[in-house]
Amino acid sequence: MSAPQGPSEHGGQTKEQTRILVIEDEKRIADFVARGLESAGYTVDSAADGAAGLELVHATDYDLIVLDLMLPDMDGLKVLEKIRNRKLSPPVLILSALGAVDDRVKGLERGADDYLGKPFSFTELLARVRALLRRGQPTPERLQVGDLILDCIRRKVTRSAEPIELAPKEFSILEYLMRNRGRALSRTMIVEHVWDMDYDGLTNIVDVYIRHLRSKVDDRWPEKLIHTVRGVGYMIETPEKQSEQEAEQQRAG
Ligand code: CA
Repeated sequence: MSAPQGPSEHGGQTKEQTRILVIEDEKRIADFVARGLESAGYTVDSAADGAAGLELVHATDYDLIVLDLMLPDMDGLKVLEKIRNRKLSPPVLILSALGAVDDRVKGLERGADDYLGKPFSFTELLARVRALLRRGQPTPERLQVGDLILDCIRRKVTRSAEPIELAPKEFSILEYLMRNRGRALSRTMIVEHVWDMDYDGLTNIVDVYIRHLRSKVDDRWPEKLIHTVRGVGYMIETPEKQSEQEAEQQRAG
């Protein structure tokens, strides 16, 4: 257990405990990382394999997860995928001896936020942990609706872990929709936000871009995320959430 002195990186936000989960089977490394993070003021839980780690992830809201890729019971990337399927998905820092560019890319593509190759110095680990915690604060850098994930930093989009290539304007529209998930956005709002101008004549172009987006993001999947809101514009939401919302509106009259 550690002293609950919240690390100051939270930008004035008083948060008593920042909880970090370390999933690592090599006891020496797990202890080294846990001790170091605890002395830096974080509260740390450790898990020695993927199953134990996932159990903790389900039971506790962590602010960050440090994840080893080579675990005795399952591939760390599999663990990452399961973490990413959760509604509240904390940043994940991958730790691995597999330093090859390929593994790094694979990890980042599947939704890891950073990657540190073994061997590493604790100072470097701590710097990355702090950066990840800091950047998670004001606006999420990673947006998720159902299995659709948009990484605002790397400008990457995946659905069911499958990479999707988007043109810059398509990306901007999707990002805007996802930041306003569950809220109908008018064509004018989208034009003003994405094209940065106030011009009614452009609103038709929104329909064209939404069509492109749907063909890339929705068409191949049974669950449609982009919805047309009649008389308003467009909205992104999972089908379950959307029908919940509609039912509520009907009840409200
Ligand atoms: Ca290992």
